[in-house]
Order: sequence, then C-alpha cells, then structure tokens
Amino acid sequence: MNAQSESYKYESPDRAMLDRDLMRSLWRSPMRLFSLSRRLQEKCCGREITYVINRNINFTNICVGSCRFCAFRKEDGYILTHEDLLRKAEEAERMGATEICLQGGLAPGLTLEDYCEMLEVLKSSYPSMHLHAYSPMEVLHMSRASGVDIRDALRALRDSGLDSMPGTAAELLVDSVRRQICPDKLSTAEWSFIIKSAHRMGIPTTSTMLYGHIENFEERLSHLEIIRSIQMETGGFTEFVLLPFVPGNTELRGVAKTPDILENLKMHALARVALYPHIKNIQASWVKLGREVAGAAMEWGANDLGGTLMEENISRCAGSSEGQYMSPDEFKDLIKRHGRIPVQRDTLYRKIC
Ligand code: SF4
Repeated sequence: MNAQSESYKYESPDRAMLDRDLMRSLWRSPMRLFSLSRRLQEKCCGREITYVINRNINFTNICVGSCRFCAFRKEDGYILTHEDLLRKAEEAERMGATEICLQGGLAPGLTLEDYCEMLEVLKSSYPSMHLHAYSPMEVLHMSRASGVDIRDALRALRDSGLDSMPGTAAELLVDSVRRQICPDKLSTAEWSFIIKSAHRMGIPTTSTMLYGHIENFEERLSHLEIIRSIQMETGGFTEFVLLPFVPGNTELRGVAKTPDILENLKMHALARVALYPHIKNIQASWVKLGREVAGAAMEWGANDLGGTLMEENISRCAGSSEGQYMSPDEFKDLIKRHGRIPVQRDTLYRKIC
C-alpha cells in the first residue's frame, strides 16, 4: 500500500475504531508513516506552527497521590496564597501571556470552594486572561472533598471563571496500566466521564498521553482510540499533547522503556494519523522532548509547540534538563529554522496578530 492510498483511508471521518493493522504496519515503516503524517499535517494546518504565551502556576505541591512517575509531590510542601497567585498573574500579564495554566497536587483539605476562589481572585483582577485550570483528577478530588456531584463541581468552576481544562491525569487510558503506575488515580471511565461532562457544559479541554513507561504499543493504540472516539462524540478537545515519560527522579526509573528520538518522532506522526481528521492540533512538548527534538517533530506531524510556561515544575522535578521558560523569540527562531511559519495563538487556537 502506498502513502496516497493510506491517505485516502483517512478521508472517512466516521470511524472511532482505529485500523490497527494499518497502524502496526505504519509503525514498522517509518518513512511511510512520515510521508502520511506530513501529508495530513499539511491538509490540517498548512505550514503554520503555533505557540501560546502562557504561564504555569502550580499552586501546591502537597499531594495525597501515589503516582509512580511523579517526583513533584511532597508531604510538607507549599500552598500559594491569593497574593502569590496575583503576583504571578501580574508578571504573566506583563510578559504578554494570554493564558494562565493552574494545576497542583491533591492537597488534603482543599475544597471546591478553595478551587473556585482561586479562579475568582484571578478573574476579577485579570478578566481577559484565559484560565486553563484543574485536571479531571483535581475535579474528582474537590468533588469528593466537598461531597458535590462532578457536574455541579464543573458548573461551579465555570461560574467562577474557568475557561478550559487541561486533559492531564489521562496518563495512559488503560486501567491495567493505570493500576501499576498511578493506582490511586481516577479510572479510565472516570476520566472520560469528567472530560465529556466538561465538553457538554461548554468547557473545552486538551487531551494528553503519557507514554514511554511500562505500556506496550497496543495499549498506546487503545489510548488513541478513546481520545478519537470522545472527540467524535463531543468535539471538545482543542489539541492532543504527547508527553514522553521523563524517568529521571521517579520510582519508575530503571523500569521504564524510555523512548529514543526516533520513537518519539514516530509517536507524533502516529498520533497525527490516528486522530485525523478529528483532532487538528498535535502538540510536541519542548519541555519533555527538548527544543531540538520538538523542532524535528514539526516535520513528523506536530503543528504546535505548546507554551512559554514561565515556570515549569513538574517535568523539572522528574529530571527534565529543559529550562522553565521559552521566549516567543525562541519559538519563532526554532520554527523559522524548520522553514515553517510561526503563529502566536490563544488557548483555543485563535490566531493572535
Ligand atoms: S502526578 Fe499529580 S496526583 Fe499524581 S502524585 Fe504527582 S502531584 Fe499527585
């Protein structure tokens, strides 16, 4: 089968299930995979590569979770005050950020009201800042803490200023894998329920995949299939973010099958093909991959490089050697070096001129 006929297969928008034989065959033939992913990327996004000016705020690193891939949690860590949040938001606005990404550990005692207050404090001082906040696991945590139904919690968050949610805590959406790497985290069904509920309430989310730990190839395909089918049902995902596992300081060091550069590039290409045409935006993470490999991923299906971040703690704790900030000029230089057109976007992929 040549790349042209494979591309033809993907003209059909109506199949949630992946053609696993084709996926396996493409995986074994990187040049065919590359050729197809490049063609589909061109169809979706032309030669443009996007980035967003944003700021991460990890409001606490205290967490009752036990994820084996995490080096961020502490039993006696910090919780930011409202003043701290406002100071960081002020700095973000001064640097041109359009988004604040707010996530933290699962601190005991934090209630739905506390999470809503953080949004209200930020929104009332920075009304035009897009608040991208709280993973499905955090939504479950606050719902449990306050004895509130998930949908009521999402409504309260939306009314407090939540604009969109990160689709993190997905890790790998196969329960047998989750039981080994994050036994206390929400199940695949719970993650899907919270995400779909958010989409139905008009709260868009991203989607993510943590790969390169203990999972096998078929489990990666199962994850992609779930993402694809949710998007076909709700249309609420803005992007798919590939997160190669950084084993450095985590419990999974020595166990994880850390992907090499070629495998990382192939995963971006495979995601482009598997999610086409339902998810248009495939993001390469410069924090996880490093800037040069993230740049190379632009040739293998990725059309977005994520955000400036300004403060990246989670990957850094796990051992990522990347800095905490990538400036807009660095994004533009990297994108132009690959012969592509840099475009600043907002969280919802609207172009910022
Ligand atoms: S990944 Fe999140 S939930 Fe899991 S232990 Fe780390 S901070 Fe806690």
